[in-house]
Amino acid sequence: AKSTGHNMYFVYENNMAENIDAHLTLGGGLRKAIEEEQFVLHYQPKIRLCDEEVVGAEALIRWVHPELGMISPDQFIPLAEESGLILPLGEWVIRRACRQLKEWRESGVAPIKMSVNLSSRQFMQADLVDMVERVLQETGVEPEYFELELTESMLMADAQQSIDKLHGFRKLGLTLSIDDFGTGYSSLAYLKKFPIQTLKIDRSFINDLGLDSDNDAIVKATIAMAKSLNLKVIAEGVETRSQFDLLDGYGCQEVQGYLFSKPLCGEDFLRYMSSQNVV
Ligand code: C2E
Ligand code: CA
Ligand code: CA
Ligand code: CA
Repeated sequence: AKSTGHNMYFVYENNMAENIDAHLTLGGGLRKAIEEEQFVLHYQPKIRLCDEEVVGAEALIRWVHPELGMISPDQFIPLAEESGLILPLGEWVIRRACRQLKEWRESGVAPIKMSVNLSSRQFMQADLVDMVERVLQETGVEPEYFELELTESMLMADAQQSIDKLHGFRKLGLTLSIDDFGTGYSSLAYLKKFPIQTLKIDRSFINDLGLDSDNDAIVKATIAMAKSLNLKVIAEGVETRSQFDLLDGYGCQEVQGYLFSKPLCGEDFLRYMSSQNVV
């Protein structure tokens, strides 16, 4: 069949219509979904390189839609951001993650740290620090076992205000991590001013490890820089042993990725921890 410019225009327009449709359907269902708690958290293990022990978990939300099944966060977090529903949803995530951490602890496994992602609108919320403090107290989670993952663009939107907010969190005693590191615009000068403890190297860099020498040089330099700034470095999206070995050689401290485990429901995570952390 001939593909004319005209036809292509139509294809494009049809796709657009479908996207808008999906957008409206999901967006409309989101409020109800929050009321009915149609969400679950999955947890991906964070592994320490030196002994391959599970030292943490990242909480990742999924929407269990009554008709559409499991919907990934990339599909509804942007909608939740636009509508402001991210604020109640984000609070739910923090509370659920803290309760889960408490449950694991009560079942007797070694203590690990729980990390939660924040979105930009959530980060701008005026009483965010107070909310986090309240949830930690309510759930009885010690702040040193709680971490927030923030992106560079979130921090750079209003750098001075971000610094103040981060200090607020540090006063509570929790730790702060820069997520997707290397994909944003943060300057090295600012990196020094932000009171953060962890850099998480974005998956796109890990993906190319061993395949592109420029990429490897960037990862190596990032790890060296982080270490000289006394930051912990974690690599996300580690899928192969050879990626793991390269990161080990560069001095990376923690990894996360399918090589060890996909994100797991709370029960499976507990099983994973019990099977891994055996003496
Ligand atoms: P992220 O924070 O960069 O999370 C890492 C994503 O990579 C997760 O996708 C995870 O399942 C996936 N992943 C982990 N290991 C591997 C691997 O080895 N290979 C590959 N190909 N992928 C891997 P997920 O769960 O779909 O989450 C996507 C994004 O949605 C997250 O990216 C985060 O930005 C956002 N998100 C997830 N949960 C929340 C939440 O509770 N609140 C907010 N604000 N955002 C969330
Ligand atoms: Ca993250
Ligand atoms: Ca990422
Ligand atoms: Ca992200």
